Amino acid sequence: MELLKQRILEQATVIGSEVLKVDMFLNHQIDVALLNEIGKEFFRLYADAGITKILTVEASGIGIACITAQYFNTPVVFAKKGVNRNAEGEIYSCDVFSFTKNAKACIGVCQKYLDKDDTILILDDFLAYGSALTGLIDIVKKSGAKLAGAGIVIEKGFQQGGQAIRSSGIRVESLAIIESMDNGKIVFG
Ligand code: 5GP
Repeated sequence: MELLKQRILEQATVIGSEVLKVDMFLNHQIDVALLNEIGKEFFRLYADAGITKILTVEASGIGIACITAQYFNTPVVFAKKGVNRNAEGEIYSCDVFSFTKNAKACIGVCQKYLDKDDTILILDDFLAYGSALTGLIDIVKKSGAKLAGAGIVIEKGFQQGGQAIRSSGIRVESLAIIESMDNGKIVFG
């Protein structure tokens, strides 16, 4: 998505060689007009997939999911962080590892919000090593719902999460894929 790539080049900053900071338009201040274009693009990609619900994880995914859901006319469910993994029977939960925070967290969704008749689109802001997306996929599997695929705003292609998840047969659509960002220079795939 050219508009998004342009914005990344103009406003993103590279932290070390692994983390991209996009606080100017996505992770702190939010450019709603840009998010609206992102939502339209996810709708274009998945319009024929019969989506009945969008699943994301708090907090950064929520805005993206809500704007996109207006095009699909579906509810949004977001996995909460720090749920009690012992609350089995009520919550579909999964451990995810955040490499940006260097910490493990248990994420979960109340069972009543995911139905086996649902067709789910998972959305998130970033795809890096794939832990967050794998956790959300696991939650969909536990619910028995159908997974249509995932939509990612920015994928860091050099961190292999996307490669691993696609090779397991899951559809992953990323609006911008970064192939490298060595020495602060962002190169798209
Ligand atoms: P993964 O689980 O794929 O390793 O990382 C994805 C999650 O970590 C995303 O939900 C996102 O919140 C966070 N993340 C990963 N890489 C970055 C990054 O370069 N910048 C920002 N802002 N968040 C990231």
